[in-house]
Amino acid sequence: MKNFAAFHLGESPRILSAQIPGKESRRLLEQQKQIEGSVVSYPRSIPIAIKKAKGAIIEDVDGNRFLDFFAGAGVLNVGHTNPEVLEYVEKQQQELIHALDFPTQNKMDAITKILAHLPEHLRDEYKVSFGGPTGSDAVEAAVKLAKMKTGRETIIAFAGGYHGMSAGALALTSDVNYRRRLFSLLPNVHFAPYPYCYRCPFGKQKENCSLDCFSYLKNLIENSHSGIPLPAAILIEPIQGEGGSIPALAVYLERLIDLANEHGIVVILDEIQSGFFRSGKFLSFMHTKAIPHIITISKGLGGIGFPLSGLIYRKDVEAWGPGDHIGTFRGNQVSLAAANGAFDFVDKYELAEHAAQMGEYLVGRLRELRSPFIGEIRGQGLMIGMEIVRNKETKVPYPELVKKLKQECLQRGLLFEVGGHHGNVVRFIPPLIITLKIVDYAIAILQLAFQALAKGRRLAKDQGTMTLNKIDIP
Ligand code: PMP
Repeated sequence: MKNFAAFHLGESPRILSAQIPGKESRRLLEQQKQIEGSVVSYPRSIPIAIKKAKGAIIEDVDGNRFLDFFAGAGVLNVGHTNPEVLEYVEKQQQELIHALDFPTQNKMDAITKILAHLPEHLRDEYKVSFGGPTGSDAVEAAVKLAKMKTGRETIIAFAGGYHGMSAGALALTSDVNYRRRLFSLLPNVHFAPYPYCYRCPFGKQKENCSLDCFSYLKNLIENSHSGIPLPAAILIEPIQGEGGSIPALAVYLERLIDLANEHGIVVILDEIQSGFFRSGKFLSFMHTKAIPHIITISKGLGGIGFPLSGLIYRKDVEAWGPGDHIGTFRGNQVSLAAANGAFDFVDKYELAEHAAQMGEYLVGRLRELRSPFIGEIRGQGLMIGMEIVRNKETKVPYPELVKKLKQECLQRGLLFEVGGHHGNVVRFIPPLIITLKIVDYAIAILQLAFQALAKGRRLAKDQGTMTLNKIDIP
């Protein structure tokens, strides 16, 4: 196992303020409230103002240090401000920043690296396109391409799926709370049940699973009385991210693609969050035998947080011509340089293997936590979910406890995001370069947080009592 200690701002949390947010954070949060739109969301549950970050450690303006198991929403796979990637960025900034979609060596290198990281037998089957810089842009482009290819309109997406906030991507996102007061986003979108085995939509257990979720989808497509016209595309996250870090069964994905092939439907795998080595492979579908038509990529692709998104698609899906999907900011040169730097970093340090190993280690350590409220721990690589329930038998979701746990962890120096179909999943998506020591600190914090909640009182100042492998918090 590689040791990436030098790529972090230390390997431990450090809480100096009596309470989070500290004084300076409070000042900036208050200023933000006054002058920035109320749509701001993350600081509401993680009330800190950030000064700097390196690797998996964030330092706030009061000098407090947090373990970042959120990584900018699954973006900072090679770590915040990774110095080896920064070298590529700094060099590129001196040469060229904006180049529309003209060819540059920098861009050709990035495309070549993307294709080179696909399975060997598929490399020549695919092409790459860059659109607008966000994940939502990639989803919009993928849907457009599928419609142009098939001449059809309907799209099937999945319960628990998240695809972005632009009109089309939002229409394909299942959470209706995001669509309140909005109308006519994108017609003919239908949602199918996701293979969410812990809460099987068909009431089955692993032992008696007969893939009813797949039979249901098959019927939607093949039965002309299902009410759903033959779709242009099926859009699915191979591992649901915001939905609660739920890997789809490999067999489900494989059958879905066979079914789509039979009916001339384009399968779009949204790998915006599960991609860029997060799952332990470049793209998470590479854990299966599935061969998708279009793959959306973003987040980690921009290296250290530069906005970049794109499509990887089969050459036989190519249905658009010059100018059919234009835009000012496509494939920004600095973002592409960061992507090149990140790919080289991943290869040099065998980061995919490290992500897989650290994922196993983190899951193993999470399983050591003793709490009657942990219903399931699941995931692939470093895309991990811990589902919190009121009772392990009834599995009734317990989102209220998750909220409290998040606050207890924040006070002790651990950041994570919450997701899930019922808002009750603790999501761990840290930088892939995390170390054993960083994971051990995260586990120690979680343990203390669970203990504090069990005792019904906050132990805000129990830092001194936190030990791991006999290492005291400094
Ligand atoms: N698809 C998936 C799977 C995502 O996780 C996200 C972002 N969380 C998006 C699309 C949208 O990306 P963006 O926020 O960059 O538009």
